Amino acid sequence: MSAILDKITALREELRQHNHNYYVLDDATISDYDFDVKLKELQGLEEQYPEFFDANSPTQRVGGSITKNFKTVTHKNRMYSLDNSYSKEDLLDWEKRTQKILGVEQLEYTCELKYDGASINLTYEGGKLLKAVTRGDGFQGDDVTENIKTIRSIPLIIKEHNVLDFEIRGEIILPLDGFLKMNEARVEAGEDPYKNPRNTASGSLKLQDSAEVARRPLDCLLYHVVADRIPFKTHEEALANATKSGFKIPKTLKVVSSIDAVFEFINHWDIERHHLPYETDGVVIKVNSLPYQDELGYTSKAPRWAIAYKFKAEQKSTVLESISYQVGRTGAITPVANLEPVELAGTIVKRASLHNADQIEKLDIRVNDTVFVEKGGEIIPKVTSVDLTKRPQNSVPTQYITHCPDCDTELIRQEGDAKHYCPNEYGCPTQIAGRIQHYISRKALDIDGLGAETVALLCKENLIANYADLYDLKVEQIIPLERMAEKSAINMIQGIELSKQIPFEKVLFGLGIRFVGETVAKKLAKHFKNIDKLMQASFEELIAVDEIGDRIAQSIVDFSNDLVNIQLVDRLKNHGVQLQLSAEALEGQTDILKGKIFVVSGVFTKMTRNELKKSIEDNGGKVSSSISKKTTYIIAGDNMGPSKKVKADELKIPIISEDEYLEMLRESLN
Ligand code: AMP
Ligand code: ZN
Repeated sequence: MSAILDKITALREELRQHNHNYYVLDDATISDYDFDVKLKELQGLEEQYPEFFDANSPTQRVGGSITKNFKTVTHKNRMYSLDNSYSKEDLLDWEKRTQKILGVEQLEYTCELKYDGASINLTYEGGKLLKAVTRGDGFQGDDVTENIKTIRSIPLIIKEHNVLDFEIRGEIILPLDGFLKMNEARVEAGEDPYKNPRNTASGSLKLQDSAEVARRPLDCLLYHVVADRIPFKTHEEALANATKSGFKIPKTLKVVSSIDAVFEFINHWDIERHHLPYETDGVVIKVNSLPYQDELGYTSKAPRWAIAYKFKAEQKSTVLESISYQVGRTGAITPVANLEPVELAGTIVKRASLHNADQIEKLDIRVNDTVFVEKGGEIIPKVTSVDLTKRPQNSVPTQYITHCPDCDTELIRQEGDAKHYCPNEYGCPTQIAGRIQHYISRKALDIDGLGAETVALLCKENLIANYADLYDLKVEQIIPLERMAEKSAINMIQGIELSKQIPFEKVLFGLGIRFVGETVAKKLAKHFKNIDKLMQASFEELIAVDEIGDRIAQSIVDFSNDLVNIQLVDRLKNHGVQLQLSAEALEGQTDILKGKIFVVSGVFTKMTRNELKKSIEDNGGKVSSSISKKTTYIIAGDNMGPSKKVKADELKIPIISEDEYLEMLRESLN
């Protein structure tokens, strides 16, 4: 028995170290595949021997628990806010106050970046993560431990150290590239993109399904250790020690001994921050000495020993010429400001987001106002305020539209939703055209010879009203249309005809079911194999599929129960559109390469590159276009790209030949 516990303990320790190498040090020493094998082994043992359960085992990081109500927890030590400053004068004042209280002239400061995310307090007892609580109102926060555990860079058990009972505070952030990827997937699934990484990070902490949190590329940057007896003299030392214990503390921290040096740090990072992988909104300056910090203490809101300096977001003022309202494919209305063009952060800005009706009302934004536009964390610039001194005399308050600009249907607004929607799903021209435009797009049915504008025209001429109508189009109907040559008409019909060969998964994506993006469509196609089984699946059957959550499942159920959709799908079927996996697709499908990521480079002899890629995917593997730490194998043919070779050697990723790949398949199949 103890041999088994030893084995379990050893595996846990090893996986812990690998997590640390990968997520904190950014320096993996094992392939993802090998990591997964070890994790599976540990999972197996833990299942078999439940008596050895450990809440802090690396297996607990994949999530799966559902929290309906987060428990409110009182902070042992209050989580204060920070005083803000915006100028060198503010900082000099702060220094003077500080020097006066302490009665010293020369002080040492630490400069840290102000990470823009959601603050978190982690409590460790006996070196183990006991709980993770949000800041809340500073006195009490929400217990989000289960969600926090999924963030791999947070140690569940710290590496051996002299301080074992402590709290450590930091910021949960969503790095930019992860944020952009999440948004790409959302847009693809017909959802509104998230506004900014900060809100998305803090929203993620309160998700009920921890498995969903596990899928988000969250990270945690730490900045403050709190303990009853700290054996360190400075803040810097305490953080250096925390780094040794396994926490991620950005190396941007700097110790300086004058406000001038603080300003150098600020000036440097005001520009350099744009090259960081995450967002920052300022610099936090702290008195480095911990005894001095004690002496300085707190005001009713914030520590006296620290101050934040806020970076200025670039702002310009310009005239709001008009407000237009856009209708999305899903019916969501977005108000857009049309501006007199102005240069902002290196680009000419003509349009800015006005978000929603509440925002317009809150800022009292009116046409002909001079407004301030800002490029903050958001990708699209936004209007932040109105210069009331420049408001024209005859100005009138903005009346938000009550009816759809496209179909004049009265807009609805659901409880808790900031946006207005046009409910006329099947009659609203933009929504109708939007769905067809999505259907023909490259990642869906990929119809050559038919573009978004033509779709709009065909809709306007009442030749089509849904994607099934495309298949009834005749050349004679199209030729009379404006600017339509016979040749283009023939091309278009041919393109539509050819789309009948597009595989099921792409058709499924093309149907435009809300929340069913490209990847989800692939998953569903693979699992259900045909549209009938999918549309007959119950909510429970749907959520049982890997990575399908409540929201997606509900959306599919709603789609499938709608008579209009049932008829549309029937018509597509009658036209011969692929609504099931092809015989070839079904044949030879395995998951022996599950979890492996391949990069294919060079020219091959036995198969074409595409055949090779397909073979990898058919067997459950993934193909990626660039080499990273996550790559399991590189399959190299003749003339492999030299830069790929260098990268592969650097990351020590095994390079195998086409033959070796085939051999690997054969062996696993036996
Ligand atoms: P505020 O929310 O404006 O009151 O600013 C205080 C918050 O800044 C804290 O609650 C932390 O979440 C956050 N913060 C970000 N980076 C740091 C840092 N390096 N040191 C201290 N606080 C930070
Ligand atoms: Zn409408």
